[in-house]
Amino acid sequence: MKIEQNNGKLNVPDHPTIAYIPGDGVGVDIFFAAQRVFDAAVKIVFDGQNKIEWKKLFAGQEAFEKMGDYLPEKTLQAIDDALVTIKGPLMTPVGEGFRSINVALRQKLDLYACVRPVEYFSGISSPLKNPERVNMTIFRENTEDIYAGIEFASGTKEAQKVISFLSDELKVSQIRFPEHSAIGIKPVSTDGTKRLVRAAFDHAVSTDKKRVTFVHKGNIMKFTEGGFRKWAYEVASEYPTFTALDFQKIKAAQGISAAQQAKAEALEAGKIFVDDVIADNFLQQILIRPEQFEVIATLNLNGDYISDALAAEVGGIGIAPGANINFKTGHAIFEATHGTAPDIAGKNLANPSSLILSGVMMFEYLGWTKVAQVIKSALAQTILEQHLTQDLGGNLSTSEFANALIEKI
Ligand code: NAD
Repeated sequence: MKIEQNNGKLNVPDHPTIAYIPGDGVGVDIFFAAQRVFDAAVKIVFDGQNKIEWKKLFAGQEAFEKMGDYLPEKTLQAIDDALVTIKGPLMTPVGEGFRSINVALRQKLDLYACVRPVEYFSGISSPLKNPERVNMTIFRENTEDIYAGIEFASGTKEAQKVISFLSDELKVSQIRFPEHSAIGIKPVSTDGTKRLVRAAFDHAVSTDKKRVTFVHKGNIMKFTEGGFRKWAYEVASEYPTFTALDFQKIKAAQGISAAQQAKAEALEAGKIFVDDVIADNFLQQILIRPEQFEVIATLNLNGDYISDALAAEVGGIGIAPGANINFKTGHAIFEATHGTAPDIAGKNLANPSSLILSGVMMFEYLGWTKVAQVIKSALAQTILEQHLTQDLGGNLSTSEFANALIEKI
């Protein structure tokens, strides 16, 4: 039965239809292993009463071979109808009409929040001395910024036109080599920022988090990244918060002790502390003192770097999950964050943890929190007991790893 979104609330029947795309390369190895885990957990938690009705969709290589299109209109329509989709990685076609199938999906469904929880599981080797101190969720804006894809190649008519407009009309003089510059545009809006930041705060409130941090380069890019910072603080005032700006204001008027006391009282009263960090400093802080961060809201490009840096800190992309969500329409695509791993594709060697943890996010999104919990704790236990796939130093195949996990549900 169909999942529906009414008045901003997801309506999930006992037998929800969930769309899935196994994906290319290792997608097929990991998807069916993960699906067995999901079905087993749902069956145990609901004692057989609830069940997912899986609906297979075609995208990527398989769709191209069967339907002559990497992202058929029929698939897009079905994703639109289903609301909730889970997918494996898709290869990026070289020299085709669009940059990437994943980006096209995000754009067509306006999936404005890329949500990436990063958490350490004991038993995984990490480059950090204390990786257990990393536990945060990143909300990355997914539709704007320099990643919007508005770019003109050096030497083209279009690039020249934009450069002439900038220099003639706007008297811009900072383009160092106007004859030979490629040009990219970085749109960042109030609307785009605010809907993303609201999603981060809604998450912080519903999961009882104590701190939200905005990461940006507003010190250099005053109006785009600086705008993000300004609008993000405006959103903070809609929630029960005490911000770094409040702190500064009290400090300036009444001194530092008064500011510290006001902060302590606000936190005591259950308010969320909100601050902002420049992106380069943030990349240092997540190595030195990662435990200070809980929920991060950031722009598209920063979010890309930060997500992968944090994934590496807790053991690599083989286990990092992700979701792309439009909280207004309810559309959500849960996905493995790694690629198609062509070097190990079809060999039953890939680690399915990234997709399994994306499934955990999906069950949380559906409100089937008990299912999410049992899968996550079974995964943690499997890893703790060193039942690992090869990428993590073990010797289990993809399906053996899934079997070991299912035994612990
Ligand atoms: P990749 O993530 O596929 O592989 C990088 C390395 O990590 C490889 O050595 C691979 O074996 C290993 N690896 C990745 N996932 C693993 C897993 N689950 N278990 C064990 N090892 C794993 O990155 P790439 O080689 O740069 O990209 C290959 C293709 O995937 C490209 O076409 C790219 O566009 C696409 N891609 C898709 C997505 C997505 O669908 N979300 C994301 C990234 C890349």
